[in-house]
Order: sequence, then C-alpha cells, then structure tokens
Amino acid sequence: MTDIKSQTLSGLMKEMERLGEPKFRAKQIYSWMHGKLADSFEEMTDLPGKLREKLQQEYEWIRLEPVKVQRSVQDGTCKFLFRLPDGNVIESVLMKYHHGNSVCISSQAGCRMGCRFCASTLNGLERGLKASEMLEQVYQIQKWSKERVHNVVVMGTGEPLDNYDALLDFLQILTGEGGLHISQRNVTVSTCGLVPQMRKLADEKLQITLALSLHASSQEKRRSMMPIANKYELSEVLDACRYYFNQTGRRITFEYSLAAGVNDSEKDAEELAVLVKSLNCHVNLIPVNPVKERDFVQPNHRAVVNFKNKLEKSGINVTIRREMGRDIDGACGQLRKSYMDTERVR
Ligand code: SAH
Repeated sequence: MTDIKSQTLSGLMKEMERLGEPKFRAKQIYSWMHGKLADSFEEMTDLPGKLREKLQQEYEWIRLEPVKVQRSVQDGTCKFLFRLPDGNVIESVLMKYHHGNSVCISSQAGCRMGCRFCASTLNGLERGLKASEMLEQVYQIQKWSKERVHNVVVMGTGEPLDNYDALLDFLQILTGEGGLHISQRNVTVSTCGLVPQMRKLADEKLQITLALSLHASSQEKRRSMMPIANKYELSEVLDACRYYFNQTGRRITFEYSLAAGVNDSEKDAEELAVLVKSLNCHVNLIPVNPVKERDFVQPNHRAVVNFKNKLEKSGINVTIRREMGRDIDGACGQLRKSYMDTERVR
C-alpha cells in the first residue's frame, strides 16, 4: 500500500488522477494531513464519505506512537521515544528557546556511519525513515506541546544524506504551502560529509542551512574519529561546503565536538581557524557527550572557552552549543539505545 503522508502535493495529484478523482481533492487531503495534522481520514469532513472509504482501502496511514516522554527539569527540554509501524523505535527532541520551539528529528533508525564518539551508530543501521515518519515526529510534538514548531533540525539519529530522496520529500512537505510551511531558513540538515549528496543538495538551491560535522582539522585526525573520512578527503568535503555556499548563498555551520586530549589543543584551534577562514561559516562547538560504550571525555569548561577564544581571535564566528537535557540521556541515540537494551534483556 502507498504511504499517503509521504506524497508531495504533485504526487498526491497524480494519485487522485489514478483514482479518477478531481485534482482539487489532492489539495484538500494534503491540507488535512500536513496543515491541520489530522489523525485519520474520518476527520476529513469535507470529503464525500465514499472517497474517505476508498482512501482508507488504498493507502497506508503512517502514525508514530509515543512510547515515552522525558522532560528535563533543568531546562524543559523534552525527549520523545516513538514507535514506528514496523516496531522500530526512534527518538526526537523538543528544545524551547526564547526565539521559538525547535525540534530535532531522526532521519534513520540506527546509522551506518560509525562515528567513534556517537551512540546512534553502535547497533548499525536498521533502515532509512520515510518522509511521513520524519514529518510525524514534528507533527506529534507540535500536537503534544500545543505550541507551534518554529525550527527543525535534522540532527537526531541517522545520516540524512544517506536517506536522500525521502529527506527531500520531507523538506518539500515541511516547508511548502499547505503544510506547516516552516521557513526553509529555519531548517538545518546535518551531515557527516557525504560529498556527492552535498553537491546534489546544493543544486536543489534550497534555503536550508547545511551543517557539516567536521570534528577535526586534519584528514588524519578526522579519519581516526569518523570512518566516512576514509571515503572522502577533508579537502573534498570543504570544497563541497564552498559549493553549497556558492549555489545557495547560505552560510555553512561547522560542528566540532570537543573531546579532551583528542581535538581540543591550541594547535587544533589554530589549524581549524586556518582551514575554515576562507569560508563563509559559523563554528558550533559541542563539548562531547560522554557515551558509556565510548571513551571520549569532555574537556573542562576552561579548555572549551580557550578553544573558542582562539578561534574568535582569528576572526571566526563561533558559539558553544548550550547543553540541553543533560539529565535525560542527552546525547544522540542514547535514549533509543538504553530503551532497546532493556527491551532485549526482558
Ligand atoms: N549524521 C549527521 C547527524 C547526526 S548527529 C551528522 O553526522 O552530522 C548531530 C551531531 O552530533 C553531529 O555533528 C555528530 O557528529 C554529533 N555527535 C554525535 N555524537 C556525539 C557525542 N557523543 N557528543 C557530541 N556530539 C556528538
């Protein structure tokens, strides 16, 4: 059965044609699903009863089931565990900032990129998520919080560019008219650096922000932290970033997770500054979240601030990521993993 919530508006129009229905039905159905966030076909009261029945028979209705919600007492950040129709579980996060509500979504169940500091990749990849399953994370959280979602970051479990086609449909439906219509400028997609897909995304000329997980200032060090660096040279990745900026005019964000004794020295900061200086960019420092299966350790606060100051002196735009939800399995993939581990024990 076709998954109706993953259909873009033009896809849905083709579907209506196939069913012998007038085209305007596509717009109606689309707006029920993505604008009004309907829970079922029954709610679509301006459709003839017969059509609703037909839709019920023809299409799969994807809905995520909340399994668990954890709320941080420190900062109100909420972490959600959702069950997918096939039984897989994924996690999403709601962060409340003064500039609005931000939702961090997963793009895959598991991940196959193998970054050494990351919990999401420990059990490998299950599968990529459908567009509908990415959308549902945003929809469920908006309904649960009864507040509008302003920003969406694709920074949860998974490598979004390893699930390219579904990601693109997701972005189109999330930011297009008739849906939540979130501004593309309020959407960020984070990648470990899949060069061909970064270039392809640049050619789509969207206004979304591309975040590149850099984490090291030399090819050798990056390779020791991120297996993907065996496939693409640092210089190729940075060229793709430059291409993204040239095609879209959007400033690149570099993510740099700081691990004590690994990539946090003065020399690292100097090399990093040289590397990114010629790019129109912003560096986001993330003190590494300790994951119990990994042995990366957070630098102390002073070392993080020193690193930041060093970059700033070289004229680099830099922020330290505010750590949200430390008390609720904050790091990527940890809630999902601890849930799956306990399920397995039972
Ligand atoms: N696959 C995408 C999105 C994943 S996670 C990517 O690689 O960008 C979002 C960010 O969190 C990435 O920069 C990732 O490298 C980083 N990250 C993962 N585990 C972390 C940890 N334990 N501590 C700090 N940052 C981490």
